[in-house]
Parts: sequence; structure tokens; C-alpha cells
Amino acid sequence: MELFNTLSRKKEKFKALKEGTVTMYTCGPTVYNYAHIGNLRTFIFYDIVKRAFELDGYKVKQVMNITDVDDKTIKSAAERRMSLKEYTDIYTKYFMDDLEKLNVEKNIKFTKATENIDKMQLIIKKLLKTGYAYEADDGIYYKVSAFEAYGRLSGMTVDGKYSRIKGDEYDKESATDFALWKYWDAKDGEVYWDGELKKGRPGWHIECSAMAIKHLAKTIDVHCGGVDLMFPHHENEIAQSEAYTGEKFVNYWVHCEHLLVNNQKMSKSLGNFYTLKDLEGRGFDPLSFRLMVLDNNYRNRLDFTFDNLKKYEGLLKKIDLSMKSLEKTERYTEKDNELSKQQVNETVKRLIEEFKAAVNNDFNTHSALVAFFALLDLSDSRVEKGRIDSSEYKVLKGGIDKMQSFLGVYKDYEIPREITQMADEREKFRESKKFTEADILRDKIKENGYFIADLKKGYVIAKKYLES
Ligand code: AMP
Ligand code: ZN
Repeated sequence: MELFNTLSRKKEKFKALKEGTVTMYTCGPTVYNYAHIGNLRTFIFYDIVKRAFELDGYKVKQVMNITDVDDKTIKSAAERRMSLKEYTDIYTKYFMDDLEKLNVEKNIKFTKATENIDKMQLIIKKLLKTGYAYEADDGIYYKVSAFEAYGRLSGMTVDGKYSRIKGDEYDKESATDFALWKYWDAKDGEVYWDGELKKGRPGWHIECSAMAIKHLAKTIDVHCGGVDLMFPHHENEIAQSEAYTGEKFVNYWVHCEHLLVNNQKMSKSLGNFYTLKDLEGRGFDPLSFRLMVLDNNYRNRLDFTFDNLKKYEGLLKKIDLSMKSLEKTERYTEKDNELSKQQVNETVKRLIEEFKAAVNNDFNTHSALVAFFALLDLSDSRVEKGRIDSSEYKVLKGGIDKMQSFLGVYKDYEIPREITQMADEREKFRESKKFTEADILRDKIKENGYFIADLKKGYVIAKKYLES
């Protein structure tokens, strides 16, 4: 496995800290609103990184934070006159639904910022003691000048002049002492913790350091996030964590590029964003978006358009039809045709190798998809004959399932009984050459959101996809 490490700006060979396992921390959502599809690009990417390690034989421990306390969540909850928990629970639930729809595997340790305050306080106390943090009127701040390696990840040059900033997000142009702990003020309402530190709440950056160290280890293998998090968020995570543990925080930093709209970053503050619900509202299958993300390299920006998304609906249709046709085609046992069986065997083996090599080459899912579609084409060419040798079927099916279970671009769905009944009736009409009646039923099936594709023998039914 080779991956591009932001720390060295190079593609590096992956070496796990502990053989056979990968510890992976992924910056999660701030649950103050729906996630937009830019955020979701990044979350799909995390899923790919995890599945890639799994495909390579590793056991992966992935942690994802849910940021349920910060400037934005507090402000939004107050505007709705809801408690922070009531408010953030709503958007956490929507977030989980989005992941489900996008086939993001849930074998992740999700952990909420508000469940890890103890650890944050512990870290802050130690940083105060060791001179990496200091107290001001309104809170406790990290002293950037005390951490020599500051700027190493983002390439930020630190000029030694520091201002101080209390907001969670700030100017990306300069290094700034940032808040670890914000003392309570009236606009925080009921939101505060006390005990180890004076009444207040954590800053955003300390959340991830605490959760990564507490749920994984002092040093972890992989840390992922969107490129916008490189500075200041990840730079701050390194400064906090390494000052606290005295050890290297992360071996491989992996950053996913942005999703753009009209050449601008999709973001809530610019108002140029779409949610998954918007896509569904226009008739798109959420998996068309997953396929779009996989077809584009994570290190390139991706300009989103609905026209482009339609292309992926077309590809989903192909996947659906190919898989169903293979399943539906009559099987038989061919005694002689050894040459053909051998050819299929070898081609499938080669395609699986190309697929794995692509995934291991810095998560090149575009090339992996090329191998996947080549395999579907091979399967189609066998299916076209009207029947398929059982051993060829097995090899093709095995290859397709293996690749698909990594890609996660297909989800089985139910076809209503009325539709399958109509399709059966249509088939009977066709057999008795009553084509007009058969066509009427085919159109009716279409009106109900499904369509029939005829095979050499028999047919398959699939849902209708939007196509360009
Ligand atoms: P947030 O909920 O704003 O903390 O963001 C969650 C994740 O989405 C972070 O890893 C961000 O880097 C990422 N992200 C934000 N905007 C975009 C975008 N336009 N394209 C891709 N990823 C994004
Ligand atoms: Zn984070």
C-alpha cells in the first residue's frame, strides 16, 4: 500500500505501527445543520481508505468524532430555543442516515465531543503545567511559540508575532494562539462544564486530540480530513497532542480535496451547497454521488454539476443490469470448452489484480472502476449467449462480488409484487405473440418507476435511473 502523506508531500509505502492493524482517526461532522455533499465527499473518502486497508488484509480501528459542542452548535441551538443535546441529536441522526444511504460502513467508533470532556480537561491541565498553555481573562490558550515544530504539516511560516483568537475558526493566513478552553459567558447559556477547570467549554481543536488519544493511542497510523482542515485544525491537533504526550502524533496525514460548485468550494457560509436530500429530491440515487466521488481522484478538486451526476446514474444502471442479468441467465455444465473457461479464469484473475493494485496505489479508485467495468463487460459478453457455463458463472460472480463489496456502489432493493406480476403477464403475452398487450404493460411498468430489459431468454426488472 502506498499513500500520499501530507507531512512529507510524497507518496510513501505504508508501514503499520503494529503489524496487521491500522489505527485511523477521521475528523467528523459538526452537527449544527445537514451535511452538504462536499462534506459527504470527504466522508465517502474515509470509507474508501478504511476499506482499502481491509482489502489489503489489515484490521482497521477507525474513530470519528461528532462535534456536538462549538461556537456554531451553541449559537444554532440557542436560536431554536433548544438544548444543545436536543438540537445536535437531530443532526447527528440525519448524518447517520446519510452515511447509510451512501453505503458508508458503520464499523466506526463514533464518539461525541461532549462525552470526552474529562480527557480534554486533563490534557489542558498538563499543557498549563508544562508551559504550552496560559490563562487569559476569557479562557485558556495554547502558546504556539512554545511548540517548535508548529507549521510543519501545513508549511506555514511562523514569524514569532502572535495574536490571540477565541473563535473556533479563524484566518488561515497567520499562526495564532488559539483557545483550548473558553470561560463561560452569558451567550453559552446552559452549556458549560466545571470541575477540573474553571466553568467553561472546550475549543474545537482540543476535541480531536483528546478523542484520538483516548480512543486510539498516543501515536496513530493514519489521520484523515478535508484539505481545509490542514491549517489550522490539524496543525493545532499536532501541537496539542505532541506537547501532551511527548511523542509523534500521526504517521500518515491524508487529505481529501474539495468539492466545488462553479469553481468555488462548496460551503455553508457561501450558501452554494446541496444536501443529499436535494439530490434525492431531483430523482438521483445517492449511490450515483458515491460513484462520482470514486471516479475522481481524491487529491483533485471535483466540480459538481447535476449534468455530470446523470452520467453516474447511467453507470449505476449498467451495474444493476449486468449483475441481475448474470444472476438470471440459465446455467449449464459444459464438458469440453476448457479453453473458454481458462480464458475467463485468467481474465478475471488479471482484473482483480489490477483492481487491487489500483486501490493500493494511493486509493486510485478511478482505475479500480475501470477494472470493475471491464469485468462487467466480460460478464455481459457471456450472458449475451443466452446461457452460461456454471464454472464461468462462479468465477465471474466471485470477481464482481469481491470488487463490489469494496466499492459499495450497489445496494439491493425490493421490487414491488405488482411490478413483478405485470412483468410475468407481459412475458406471457410475448410468448403468445400478443405484442401490443405486452407493450402496454411494459409502458405501465415504466410509469411506475421500473423498467424491463429483455435477455436472450427471459428478462430482468430494475428501477428507473436518471440518464443524460
Ligand atoms: P465540518 O462539518 O464543517 O467540520 O466538515 C466536515 C468535513 O467535511 C471536514 O473534513 C471538512 O474538511 C470537509 N469539507 C468541508 N467542505 C468540503 C468541501 N466543499 N468538499 C470536501 N470536503 C469538505
Ligand atoms: Zn478534527
